[in-house]
Amino acid sequence: MDSSASGDTQRLRELLEHNIGAVRARIAGAAARAGRNPDDVTVVAVTKTVDISRIKLAYELGLRDFGENRIQEAESKLPFLEIRAAWHLVGHLQTNKARDAVRLFDIIHSIDSLRIAEAVDRHASALGKRMPILLEANIAGEETKSGIAPEGLPAQVEGIVGLAHVEVQGLMTIAPIGPRPEAARPYFRRLRELRDSLELRFPGIAWRHLSMGMTDDFEVAVEEGATLVRIGRAIFGERPQ
Ligand SMILES: *Cc1c(COP(=O)(O)O)cnc(C)c1O
Repeated sequence: MDSSASGDTQRLRELLEHNIGAVRARIAGAAARAGRNPDDVTVVAVTKTVDISRIKLAYELGLRDFGENRIQEAESKLPFLEIRAAWHLVGHLQTNKARDAVRLFDIIHSIDSLRIAEAVDRHASALGKRMPILLEANIAGEETKSGIAPEGLPAQVEGIVGLAHVEVQGLMTIAPIGPRPEAARPYFRRLRELRDSLELRFPGIAWRHLSMGMTDDFEVAVEEGATLVRIGRAIFGERPQ
């Protein structure tokens, strides 16, 4: 029994190693096409529905940045992992979960209002932290998605820069789901342009990150300047429905 269990682990390790290598190669290719350094792109392995043993394997294979989209799931896994990784909250955050988010995560990608930024600031202050955050932009204007409308970003930033315990590090977006990766390009390009204009308007902020690109469209995102790609299925396989 033991030997077949370790055989399973070995097969899983090989599969993950293959997947991670393939993702890195595709990022390198996209970076080369855009004249970028692939080292400027960090893979955030999104581990929603992925169990602790698989996360540990991915860590052993060299991944150091992991993402979860729900506080409750993060709470059930992170404290038991015992790995020195950076944890990224990539899913929508509600005010009543802000304290847990600050406690569990190293960076929050999904700040979509001044109100939630203020809640994070308050809890970060109480926990003696300065919380790195990204502002989520809803570029396509999809009603089902959270995020700040592009026109609303400067006003939100205006309020958020005054908060002492959050550190704005950039922007995040989720492109509309579609069959062709190329269809996501205008949304990624727009996020980069938004970043460029915010950089002129708020030069005191280090706008270093563009969090964009997932399994279906990360190469296009890298071509358009992504520094953080959030990848689940291309590493861990399809999620259970
Ligand atoms: C699940 C998720 C991802 C990863 O999606 P894949 O298509 O599996 O790569 C990225 N970002 C967010 C916000 C997610 O919820």
